[in-house]
Amino acid sequence: MKLLEERIRKDGVIGAGNVLKVDCFLNHLIDVPFADELAREFYRLFRDCGVNKILTIEASGIGIACLTARFFDCPAVFAKKSKTSNMSGEFYSVLVDSFTHGNTSTVIVNKAYLSPSDKVLIIDDFLALGNALNGLIDIVEQSGAQLVGAGIVIEKAFQGGGDAIRAKGVRVESLAMIESMSPEEGIRYRGK
Ligand code: 5GP
Repeated sequence: MKLLEERIRKDGVIGAGNVLKVDCFLNHLIDVPFADELAREFYRLFRDCGVNKILTIEASGIGIACLTARFFDCPAVFAKKSKTSNMSGEFYSVLVDSFTHGNTSTVIVNKAYLSPSDKVLIIDDFLALGNALNGLIDIVEQSGAQLVGAGIVIEKAFQGGGDAIRAKGVRVESLAMIESMSPEEGIRYRGK
């Protein structure tokens, strides 16, 4: 998506350890009209798939997941990274390694919020090694719901997660696919 590719070039900051920071429009301050255009594009890509639930993982996927859910006129569910004492019920759960935090957390979704009748679109801000997306796919499988696919804002394709998940037969649509990035040479997008 050209609009996003240009915005990343203009405002993205390439940090240490293959981390791209897009805090000034997506991950800290959210440019809502801009993010809404990203959500609209997810809707265009998946509009014919019968989606009735959006699934993401806390925290940074929640904003874009909610905007996308408005287009589909359906609820957004976010997988929680920790269970707090005021949560009751039964949960689907999976262990997920965090690329940015360098730790492993148990990620859970209440069984009441995903069921075999659901057609689920997973939405996330970044795809790197694929751990977060694999975890969410696992949760969809546990629930018996149908996975329609995954919509990712920024895929760092050079980290391989997206291609490995596509190879398993999952439809993964990324709005920007970074083939390489470095502070010296900047960003190169796949196929460009
Ligand atoms: P993965 O599990 O695919 O390795 O990483 C995806 C998750 O890590 C995303 O949910 C995102 O929050 C975070 N993440 C991975 N790489 C980056 C990055 O370069 N920048 C930011 N801001 N988050 C990232």
